[in-house]
Amino acid sequence: MIAPMCLFCRILEGEMAADVVRETGLSLAFRDINPQAPTHILVIPRRHVANLFELAEYAGELADVVALAGSIAEEEELDKGYRLVANTGSQAGQSVYHAHLHLLGGRDLGWPPG
Ligand code: 5GP
Ligand code: ZN
Repeated sequence: MIAPMCLFCRILEGEMAADVVRETGLSLAFRDINPQAPTHILVIPRRHVANLFELAEYAGELADVVALAGSIAEEEELDKGYRLVANTGSQAGQSVYHAHLHLLGGRDLGWPPG
């Protein structure tokens, strides 16, 4: 039996629409469907791994998602600050088990997060 493709893999394959912001050979960035800040972009590796820790096995791909997030933050003019979030596991609220960074900015971000 073939396992159903994960949601973000479907976006990567073009089977599901997304508001794509930027892409590289290793990563894709698109706007979150339920934005929590004026800028809320998801940056994902093309490789399917469950979380950022698993992506650490692939140093070049990990570096690519971080570098892409930083470069988009510049484009979005988040010079006053932004936050990169990687929810990992159910208690942290991870709902899609394909590694991703949330790039959040454009408003004051409270600390500690909820
Ligand atoms: P997590 O909760 O796993 O850290 O983040 C998953 C994110 O994916 C959530 O912020 C959620 O709003 C977003 N999301 C879920 N489904 C879709 C979708 O179909 N398209 C887009 N663009 N974002 C989605
Ligand atoms: Zn996936």
